[in-house]
Amino acid sequence: MGHFWRWTGLLRLYDYAVRRREKRSGQSSSSRISQDLIDVLNILEIASVVISTHEEPLYFSPLAQTLGIIRDERISGEELLALIRVVRRTGVTQSGSIDLPRGPIGEGTRRLSVKVARIGNSDLIIALLSDESEAERIDAVRRDFVANISHELKTPIGALSILSEAVLGARSEPEAVEKFALRMQIEAKRLSDLVQEIINLSRLQDADPLLDAITVDIDEVIELAIVQSQLHADSRNIEIVRGDEVHLSAVGDRAQLVAAVHNLIENAINYSPDKTRVTVNSQARNGLIEISVIDQGIGISESDIDRIFERFYRVDPARSRETGGTGLGLSIVKHVARNHGGEVVVWSAPGVGSTFTLKLPIGEEIIEMDDNQ
Ligand code: ADP
Repeated sequence: MGHFWRWTGLLRLYDYAVRRREKRSGQSSSSRISQDLIDVLNILEIASVVISTHEEPLYFSPLAQTLGIIRDERISGEELLALIRVVRRTGVTQSGSIDLPRGPIGEGTRRLSVKVARIGNSDLIIALLSDESEAERIDAVRRDFVANISHELKTPIGALSILSEAVLGARSEPEAVEKFALRMQIEAKRLSDLVQEIINLSRLQDADPLLDAITVDIDEVIELAIVQSQLHADSRNIEIVRGDEVHLSAVGDRAQLVAAVHNLIENAINYSPDKTRVTVNSQARNGLIEISVIDQGIGISESDIDRIFERFYRVDPARSRETGGTGLGLSIVKHVARNHGGEVVVWSAPGVGSTFTLKLPIGEEIIEMDDNQ
């Protein structure tokens, strides 16, 4: 409802402008629009129309025309005209939402939130309108996310249900029972990983780590992230090489930063052949700390690279499933970077490898304490 506060403020501003002008010119402004008002309306990001007693627009902003509120210099849309008539009759400010056709043909409409009010004691009426399509688009993205989650959850749940039937059917064959039970464990773990990552992601979307920030030693973040991946790397004979330390800190949430670097290292291992190398470097450049995770893996094609940070996007869903991937890892990295005022970028060449670089604003230098002093 932020708009309404702004609108109310705007009307006050207008009253002030009218009074000032009246004082200056010594005449009533009842059916004249002040240039001050026009100047204010012109810089607003919302559409505006000032109407005379005869429903004739005396002024409309360019946006009012773009949005189709004004067509052929007349107000279009019965709903808006009805609100204007109510204000004229009662003098009471009206607000609400109206649907306007997007064009002269077709069924597409645009939802606008609108406020109509009489301007001071004059006989002028002002309508302020803002486009709610963007908010609706964000809602649609959210709905999509929920639909995706449901789909992703159904896969392991379906597998568990089939496997439990298989166990029942194979009661008398201990080997088969063991095989199915092991598969059930894998599916159950996938389900719990997925739920955990969904929780992590939604926390990240709500939280602002900078509100509750501490100074986080980046060398420590990298160290912790590597330790968490060491067993996984060993099991694949992948060597994790740690570059030089940076002796710098970032301001933010340590657990989130460790999780982000850890996700990058896990991906580097998952999408690389056995016996390769993953290098984690860090350096300061252009006022930013850059943490790079470099692999010698399968790489990512140009057509996929723009999409890998989307929630649930995987280049090869079968491979990602095999490695226990949820399709949320990079989405989490992107959110952590963004919440810390940084970004994550990627370079990749299929068959050569990938480099993911997490960039964060530098907090301060870490001064090593010398024990002998
Ligand atoms: P997942 O859980 O599937 O790994 P992510 O969000 O972490 O999900 O990554 C999305 C997709 O991006 C992966 O499924 C994979 O196809 C691709 N990807 C991520 N990191 C790498 C990498 N280091 N090398 C090659 N492909 C990668």
